[in-house]
Formats: sequence, structure tokens, C-alpha cells
Amino acid sequence: MRLVFSNIFTMFKKGSRLYSIFTGTCPRCQEESMYTYKNLYHPAKTLKVDEQCSHCGLRYRIEPSFFYGAMYVSYGVGTAFAVAAFIISFFFFGSGLKTAFIAIMATLVVFMPVIMRVSRNIWINFFVHYDPNAVENHKKNTETEEKQHI
Ligand SMILES: [Zn+2]
Repeated sequence: MRLVFSNIFTMFKKGSRLYSIFTGTCPRCQEESMYTYKNLYHPAKTLKVDEQCSHCGLRYRIEPSFFYGAMYVSYGVGTAFAVAAFIISFFFFGSGLKTAFIAIMATLVVFMPVIMRVSRNIWINFFVHYDPNAVENHKKNTETEEKQHI
């Protein structure tokens, strides 16, 4: 049992994909959040992503309109939330189908910003992998660039 818990723990630890997905940190160095604002529930700020990571220099928009692809992911994430809402209301609270339907709708509305961010996090983690040396490499590169300018 302890082994199971420690395995689950390492799955969410820094350096794992799930860590970046659930915290919204830079997928490459995981040193800082990709999002400009912490506040999820401000409509204009929910999806505001920084230009690039200040630790490892990764540009989050890998190509123009890169994050449109996250919409496909959000179908899956939204479905997962809907199924969870259904199971909780129907099986745990013994609600009728109508109430369960309302619970699903309410869950999707309330968690919309979470779903949108998690989908983006999953999307970018498809393309960018964690690199423990990212910060170090970025430092070296910017230093050599500076030297070249002198
Ligand atoms: Zn980074």
C-alpha cells in the first residue's frame, strides 16, 4: 500500500508530465507558471499565457494559434468532468436523472476555466518534454549570445 502511495506521489512530482499539467508550469523547466494571472475566474485573464518562460526561454506559442489544438483536448477533459459530476450526483447522492443533468451543466460552467487551462497544459505537454538541464542550457546560450554581441 505504501508503495502505491509513493508511486502516485512521484507521478505528480516535479519533473513529471502530470506536475506540469496540474500546476500549469512551463513544460520544459517547470520553474514558473505559463499563465500571466493566477486568477482563473477573470474571463479576460483565464487564458493569458506569457510570451516565453523567463527561466528556460521556451516560447509557449510554438507556432501561430498553437493553442487552438487544445480545443480537441478540452472535449475529453470536459467529458471527464461531466462523467464525474454524473457519478457523484446519481450514485452518491441518489439524485434523479434530471438533477444529475443539472449537476453536469453546473459543473461544466463552474469548472470551465479549469477545464480550459488543464486542456492547454495537456496540449503543450504533448509537444514539449521536461528537461532538467533546460535552465542551465538557457543560461549558457544567452551568455554566449551576449559575448557575440560584444
Ligand atoms: Zn521554462
